[in-house]
Amino acid sequence: MKKIVVALDGHSSCGKSTTAKQVAQELGYAYIDTGAMYRAVTLYFLEHYVDLTNPKKVQEALNNIEVTFHRNLKTGRNEVFLNGLNVEDEIRKMYISDKVSEVSVLPAVRHAMVAEQKKMGKRRGIVMDGRDIGTAVFPDAEVKVFMTADVEIRARRRQQELFEKKQLVPFDEIVENLKKRDHIDSTRAESPLKMADDAHLLDTSHITVDEQVDFVLDLVASALLQKELAQ
Ligand code: C5P
Repeated sequence: MKKIVVALDGHSSCGKSTTAKQVAQELGYAYIDTGAMYRAVTLYFLEHYVDLTNPKKVQEALNNIEVTFHRNLKTGRNEVFLNGLNVEDEIRKMYISDKVSEVSVLPAVRHAMVAEQKKMGKRRGIVMDGRDIGTAVFPDAEVKVFMTADVEIRARRRQQELFEKKQLVPFDEIVENLKKRDHIDSTRAESPLKMADDAHLLDTSHITVDEQVDFVLDLVASALLQKELAQ
């Protein structure tokens, strides 16, 4: 059977990665969390005090960064590695969330990440989530979904997720972080967060994860059928 690309874009913390993981599992496709790549770059920049206003230093740093994904055989989860080191837990912390959008705005960072992501999806058969997958990385993705949800509902879910990782973060701080990231992500010059013309809108404020997954799988089923018929 032909393989396709499923692109899930949208606002921060509206369930993209939860949905993407399950869709990928159902289809037997690879799942790529592109936010994790920008988070790993941010971690490196912070650890090496990279001056974001100095393009030469930014490029030098990017030349020293390798972000890869490896499956954790115990959990079955794909985890992110920065230069061979597992940073899956570190990159989810608030100090990274606070900085990541400022790093992701830099054209050199975007060029490097987008080029990597294109390579990863060259053979198709992937589910990728992010902000610019349906617009910049895979404008030819067969399935594009743009996810959103009420910001307070997103913040509550995010707070719960962090709590489960033993991080207590005040609700207002999370709301502010989500709003700030959405704003920077949507207004940057280079591949901003915006809904592709041919994307399907999915508001997850009042639906379950199963419903989110079914919504995407229904779109996948019709895309695959269309492909079969076109042959
Ligand atoms: O998906 P996640 O919330 O982990 O993404 C973290 C940040 O990475 C986003 O707020 C955004 O600044 C950046 N990002 C991006 N383009 C993507 C994925 C993430 O700019 N494709």
